[in-house]
Amino acid sequence: MRGTPKLSVLFLCAFLIIVTVEGLTMSNGDEVVIENKYYRMAIDSASGKIKSFTRNGEEFIYSPEEQRELFKIRLRDESGIQMDLSSNSAESIKVESEKLNDKTMINMEFSKLQGLPLSVTVQVICPTEDALTYWRFKVINETGKWLEHIDFSVVVPDELPAKGGDALLFWPGSEGTIVEDVNLREKFWFKWQPIEHPAMGWIGLYPGPAQMQFMAYYTPRAGLYFSAHDPYGNPKGIEFHPHSGGGIYLDFRLFTGPVCEREFELPYDMVLGTFEGDWHDAGEIYRKWWEGADLYKPPKLKHNPNIPEWYFESPIVVMYPIKGTRDLGVEMTPNPEYYPYTNALPIIQKLSEQLESPILVLLMHWEGSAPWAPPYVWPPYGDFEDFCKFRDELHKSGNLLGLYASGVAYTIKSNTDPSYDMSKEFEEKRVIQYVTYAPDGKPAENGVCAGPHAQRIGYDLCPSNEWVKEVVVNEIKKILGNGVDYLQFFDQNLGGACYRCYAKHHGHPPGPGRWQTEVMKDLYRRILEEISSKDSKMLIGCEANPADVFIPYLLFNDSRNYLAFAMGKPVPAYGYVYHEYVNNFMGNQNGTWFFIDEEKCPYNLLVRIAVSFVQGDMLSLNLRQGGKIAWEWSSAPWDKGPNEEEVITLVRNLNNWRRGLGKNYLVFGRMEMPLSYTGDKLIPLYTPRGDVIHVRSVFACQWRYESTTALFFVNYLPYEQKVYISPSEEVRSKIKVYNSPKSDINDYSRLTVNLNGSSEIVIPPLSAVMLEW
Ligand SMILES: [Zn+2]
Repeated sequence: MRGTPKLSVLFLCAFLIIVTVEGLTMSNGDEVVIENKYYRMAIDSASGKIKSFTRNGEEFIYSPEEQRELFKIRLRDESGIQMDLSSNSAESIKVESEKLNDKTMINMEFSKLQGLPLSVTVQVICPTEDALTYWRFKVINETGKWLEHIDFSVVVPDELPAKGGDALLFWPGSEGTIVEDVNLREKFWFKWQPIEHPAMGWIGLYPGPAQMQFMAYYTPRAGLYFSAHDPYGNPKGIEFHPHSGGGIYLDFRLFTGPVCEREFELPYDMVLGTFEGDWHDAGEIYRKWWEGADLYKPPKLKHNPNIPEWYFESPIVVMYPIKGTRDLGVEMTPNPEYYPYTNALPIIQKLSEQLESPILVLLMHWEGSAPWAPPYVWPPYGDFEDFCKFRDELHKSGNLLGLYASGVAYTIKSNTDPSYDMSKEFEEKRVIQYVTYAPDGKPAENGVCAGPHAQRIGYDLCPSNEWVKEVVVNEIKKILGNGVDYLQFFDQNLGGACYRCYAKHHGHPPGPGRWQTEVMKDLYRRILEEISSKDSKMLIGCEANPADVFIPYLLFNDSRNYLAFAMGKPVPAYGYVYHEYVNNFMGNQNGTWFFIDEEKCPYNLLVRIAVSFVQGDMLSLNLRQGGKIAWEWSSAPWDKGPNEEEVITLVRNLNNWRRGLGKNYLVFGRMEMPLSYTGDKLIPLYTPRGDVIHVRSVFACQWRYESTTALFFVNYLPYEQKVYISPSEEVRSKIKVYNSPKSDINDYSRLTVNLNGSSEIVIPPLSAVMLEW
């Protein structure tokens, strides 16, 4: 039940100390106002809600008159019943501000929410010379119930392009997404849902499919930055969704452990502030915090001893199924082009020649158990001797071998191969005790890819159980020593995380919390120890890029940046923040057809290849019948596909930049905001629901490496394009334009200046050019 605002009580009890120093902190009796050169923030002194947050005249709070709460709290009792409390239900609210030398502090006290013995203090630190404010939450809970989460959200105006405005929303899921229409995803199963049981999959969950902890809402005039600066990887929901009155919620749901101690202080700051610019500038605030935070980061790639040499050669990842043509259904007969395994060698050899690159073959449906039937995968399906020969021949020709698995879950019965039945072990080992549990104390039935219409009947496993960790490590030990270069063991552990669990018998607190992050880190540590003890450099990966806390362990992963088309457009924010530490790959693009009508959009795969290139990812291709290229893994792969020649040309040309003159930038570089450019056009992508998403016909990415900078313009279309730039004269005079990644270092041209002061760049079809200075 949500608390009802007791307005009269609030008004009488509101207490305010007014401090006025140099106009920084003011009050008109109803509100506390903090103002510095970066922002003006007004807090309602009766309710503590944020009434206004502005910069350069841009108001970031929708409908300031609306009666909103500052925060909400969820409690849960021993029987699993939840109770939601609003800050507005406090019996008394006190708002004070205090000016110190270099900052102002706002102290808010919310006593006895809904009359219960539960009080919350919120302290807001507002440094005078800072565009950010820092929010600290403390809960005194004498209810005897578990404190499960704190909700902290703001409602921004909806002035996105779909409403005729010029604002954009940045969301940190799918490796970075820009939203232009808040209703785009509301029309199908991808729609927003609260981050709570039983919601699973592609939701705004950090660490998980949301890999970073910041959102932004910005216009050409100013932007709002809303973030958690949490170095510990505490789970949190990070979401946006429409407000019924017309604004947009930016929600943080902060999972607390859960905890039942009397006193709980959120162990990190929530950060709300302003900036000027776009998502790069918001990303810069986050990158600066992340790099300076006291958390475990891997060395930069160049100095990371766990990286195998092949990584720096940017192999192209090629995926295909050994058996079956789809994820679901029981038609799992081996594909003669790909099985016996060695049958695929001529296809791989030909692709390697066409692409002028090593290939990392990444097999699907190869498991000796059944397709996507975790946790047991080894040995490979069928002819083991042929598998070994396939591996050896790949290695002899400079290619590589990778395998998909399915993460930390248990298959009782496979739906794709009815002969695979683990019911006996499930019963005998009482595996039910190790699965994830729902709030009602029963095994959670919402497992990933589990259910009568999914790949398997089974459960997600809770890796806080030693048995689970041992099974996972043991499975990986079986694969080690077999010459596998890459193992995507944690497919379906999106972003590298495990799933929430409310069990009371697993030794962790009953509900979502930091324990999830810690058990996964422990599991990854054990795996890396095994790998290094065998003098192996096999890399381990997950589905979607790993959230920042898992990067040290997961150094090559199946990017899901195209999922951004469900909500808007992908932007390379993950690459912006983390590229010096990890390169991922384009992934199997599974499910693109849910978001883009592939047959109606002939350039859609070219777009997705360019999206991955500017993210700094290695590129990939999915194969269908006869070694031909598919749109993606799941779209009628055996029937139709893209224009093969165009796709191969684009992938070859772009990857040659990664392997040639652009290598230092594209593999090791630090992303910068690219110079602005004009002259390209918009390419429409049609969704299956009749919406249109427009993307630029030329993409750009810019990287700093040591003391030089390179800007790549990518023309993914099959005809020549021109763009125009107007850099400062100092930059223009230094720029060297390279048209080929194989050019001699001295074989460049200089920019000329047009009558209107701009410089023209000509980009050949299905290609990129590099500007270096
Ligand atoms: Zn558990």
